[in-house]
Parts: sequence; C-alpha cells; structure tokens
Amino acid sequence: MSTQSTPQSADPQFRVDERPDRASGERVAQVLAKPAFGAVFTDHMALVDWSRAGGWVDPRIVAYGPLQLDPSAAVFHYGQEIFEGMKAYRHADGSVWTFRPDQNAARFNRSAARLALPQLPEELFVEAIRSLVTVDQAWVPGADQGEASLYLRPYMIATEPALGVRPSNQAIFGVIASPAGEYFPGGLKPVSIWLSEDYVRAAPGGTGGAKCGGNYAASLAPMAEGLEQGCDQVAFLDAIEQKWVEELGGMNLFFVYRDGSIVTPELTGTILEGVTRGSLIELAKERGHDVIERKYSIDEWRDGAASGDLVEVFACGTAAVITPVGTLKWRGGEVAVGDGESVGEVAADLRRTLLDIQYGRADDTRGWVHRLV
Ligand SMILES: *Cc1c(COP(=O)(O)O)cnc(C)c1O
Repeated sequence: MSTQSTPQSADPQFRVDERPDRASGERVAQVLAKPAFGAVFTDHMALVDWSRAGGWVDPRIVAYGPLQLDPSAAVFHYGQEIFEGMKAYRHADGSVWTFRPDQNAARFNRSAARLALPQLPEELFVEAIRSLVTVDQAWVPGADQGEASLYLRPYMIATEPALGVRPSNQAIFGVIASPAGEYFPGGLKPVSIWLSEDYVRAAPGGTGGAKCGGNYAASLAPMAEGLEQGCDQVAFLDAIEQKWVEELGGMNLFFVYRDGSIVTPELTGTILEGVTRGSLIELAKERGHDVIERKYSIDEWRDGAASGDLVEVFACGTAAVITPVGTLKWRGGEVAVGDGESVGEVAADLRRTLLDIQYGRADDTRGWVHRLV
C-alpha cells in the first residue's frame, strides 16, 4: 500500500461559521496588552477533514474549541502528528502579512511524507491561514506593539479510530492562532545552553528532519535536565559520533567568527530545515559574510569560545527570530562566548534586518512577505 497519497485538491474556499459569542473588544485589548505565548487563542480555528477514499473535504472556519476524537484515534497511540509554526505581522498601514508561507507548506508536506500522513495542497494550507486571520484579524497586535504578532499553529493529526499499526486512513488538518508578545520583553538577552550528552534528538533515517510532535516529546526530558542545570535551552549532538553540533530542541544554530565568517551545521536529514535559518543564510551572504554550511564539532565551539576566535553564537527560529547564546555548559565545565552577556553585533544586525522585512519597514526584494488581510 502506498503511504503517500498525491495532493488532492479540495476547493480551497473555506466556509465561515462565525461564532455569535466572539470575545469583546475589551477582552481582546486586554489579551493583546500582555500576551502570554500560546496561552489564549483567537475566537475561531480552521479545520479540513481527510480520508483516503475521499481526499480533503469540508474546509471550514468554526468556533475555537475542543475536538471530539475517538480514544482509539491513531494520534493518541502512535504519535502520527506534524505541525508548523508561523506568524502574522501587522504593518504600519494596518495590513496583515505572513512570511514565506510556501516554505512552511512545502516543509509540512515533507513532514507529512515522513509520518505517512497525506499531502496537503499548498493553496489549502495558505488559504486556511488567510481565512482564519481574516476572520480573527482583531487579534493581530498593532504595528506599534514592537515585535508582537499573531502566532499561527498549523497541524495535522491521524484520527482513524483503530489500533492497528499502519498509516491512518483518516486525518484532520487544522490551524489555531494565539497572540504573541515580544519574545524578550526586557530586551534581547543571551541564553545559556546545556549540552545534552545522555540523549540525542535525532538519528540518521529517523524523524529529525520532520516537524513532528514526537521529536518534541523526546526533547522534554533533556530539556528538564538542562533547566535543572540552570540553563535555558539544550543543544543536541549527532547520534553516531556524539561530536557534531546539530541544533537546539526547536532552533537552528549559527557560529560567527572574528573574520566575519559564519558557520551553520549543514542539513544532514537529522536537522530541521528552518525557514529562519534559510533566510538568515541569504541575508548574511548579502551583507558580505562568508556563510559556510558544514559539520561543526562541539570542540570547535568550546575551543573557539575559549580562544576568542568564535565571537558570537546565536540560535534562530520563527518564535524568537534570533536568540543570542551566551554560555555553553556541560557536565564538568562551561565556557562563555565573548563576555557571555552582551548581544553580538552580527546577531543584532541580522535580527533587525529580518524583522524589518517581516514588519514591512524594509523593502521585500525577494517576495518573502505574503499579504493575508
Ligand atoms: C521549527 C523548528 C526550527 C525552526 O524553524 P523555523 O522555520 O525557522 O521556525 C528549528 N528546529 C526545530 C527542531 C524546529 O522544530
């Protein structure tokens, strides 16, 4: 049996069942004044049903609320699930945009293929986001709210009620949205990283290149270990040699050298191909940096930081854009990059450059931003 169905096109038009009991303007204003990440959701959500026999059907925007699923649904037992992370940004003229949705749609389908979930037509993916953000546009923070945005979470789950171990014959694609405040309300501040030596995130041939819940479930124990060690995030090494730096639990890594060159771990199938990573590689090259994608060893990190040759380390992803990394800690030692406390020039410059494009403050010469409302 083929586990990979070809994209079937449902009419990408979403039916809108507006809820009569929307949050009041006052309530929305209250949430937007102090959004906590992923804690409060907008009034509506997007849903599309899939079955192997019928393809994608019934695209709809409905009231946000619990899904009713059979307890035997495949997702609960075998973790057949994928997701995406995106944002809607309000520009100064009031319009609302998102960033490179084609990249997220393509990655969603790569993840789906690995998890034996159905392919989703790109126009259905983008239209789900556009329809939801249109209906709930009041929830997109104002352009005057710094780096606030509406965080978008597309997901796909296997819903067939059956315990047989095989690709599900039913699935749901959905999108939910949650207002997100500035990632660093107190200003950009370097984080500390715990080096995971007992656990790996991904192995060759595994699911590391897919954005699936299972990878995150497996990163929670090492994350808890890192927190116990007083660190903010965990860095993972390759599974075979335990030598090559891969990435954090949910962010890619960049290493900046004194001569301005930048190294980022090459994509080997065990690293998640971040949209932010790809965009920063392009922007950094354009700004004159030599950007090298290659294997990067943990000793290069330790030795470079100790000698001062390595001047900046930063992590990147949609949620925080760029997070400077101050210290690396492992069992038996730690090393700081620079003074471990200040924000590097390259990180700050790339961060501002990317944010200016996303928020419409700089010309988008590459067609990266996509208007939603
Ligand atoms: C989502 C994710 C990233 C960052 O990807 P972006 O597209 O830049 O948001 C990096 N690593 C992992 C493991 C991820 O899940």
